[in-house]
Amino acid sequence: MAKRIDLYSMTEKELCSLAETMGEKAFRGKQLFNWLYSGAGSFDDMTNLSKGFRGALEENCSMCLPTVARKQVSVDGTVKYAFRLSDGEVIESVVMSYHHGHTICLSTQAGCNMGCRFCASAIGGKTRDLSCGEIMGQILAAQKDLSVRIGNIVFMGMGEPLDNLEQVLKFMEIATCEKGLNIGYRHFTLSTCGLCDKIVLLAEEKLPINLAVSVHSPFDSQRSEMMPVNKKYPLAKLVDALKVYQAATGRRITVEYALNKGSNDSVEHAKELMRLFGGLLYHVNVIPINNAREGFYKSGREAVKKFVDYLTGQGVSATVRRELGADISAACGQLKHQVEKS
Ligand code: SF4
Repeated sequence: MAKRIDLYSMTEKELCSLAETMGEKAFRGKQLFNWLYSGAGSFDDMTNLSKGFRGALEENCSMCLPTVARKQVSVDGTVKYAFRLSDGEVIESVVMSYHHGHTICLSTQAGCNMGCRFCASAIGGKTRDLSCGEIMGQILAAQKDLSVRIGNIVFMGMGEPLDNLEQVLKFMEIATCEKGLNIGYRHFTLSTCGLCDKIVLLAEEKLPINLAVSVHSPFDSQRSEMMPVNKKYPLAKLVDALKVYQAATGRRITVEYALNKGSNDSVEHAKELMRLFGGLLYHVNVIPINNAREGFYKSGREAVKKFVDYLTGQGVSATVRRELGADISAACGQLKHQVEKS
């Protein structure tokens, strides 16, 4: 059977071309686009499209959302989903509630090839990239389940978003569209482990999104142990790529730094971090590390305070990320493994 066309992977313009190839006027594609993002549950709901066109869409296209394989709700309201895709792959998404609205953390790949030692998503490597429609499906399914509008998007779930850049860019194009999700680029945060070539490619797009980079150690030897990507793209290269990015976009960089007890949480580390990023406009987001894998343990409160106080005392913008969903399996990759084991 021929593969069905995934309508959630298409821009409005592509849907107009699709309508024409199906013998309809181009504007029918615009109507179809409106239906997709205004909650139509089936082709039958699309009452301003002819019966013949709806039948043809039914036969050749799909507008499937992922199904909920498991859902966990934290006492703080954070909701974690394990979503099952049409081929059985399981991915994760997390919806967090803040005073300014709802934020979703999206997966961009099934599994991940980057091998970060502290991350449960790295176990088993990457199975495949997600399509733009599968990235979109996570938001639409979560919005439907929770009956809320999600206004902020972070790419910090399973997978390295820059390793699936084409689909991520297309997803953002559709999501920012007024008739799509109407979410401005400034409400997107893309988090990368530091794929320098792709950071430079992203810079060429000049999008006003927030770029976050997982650093976790300012020393190459230690960072290479925690994050194998550092062997290919060591810190000096990373900083060069970030300079290119900042020159092109004017955006402040977020440095993600997960504190691992007695390992990377000393003042020496804070000092070297400052030296390394000195030529950039940046903010340090200190993260209490999730005890997801052996060898990684949350730093004590005192150590966290000392680390952050040192940075802020030197005039560096630094905050500790609020822990949400601490009582559920909130570290990326953990829930998927639970679902697969059960
Ligand atoms: S931290 Fe991110 S880049 Fe690293 S293995 Fe996990 S999902 Fe991949």
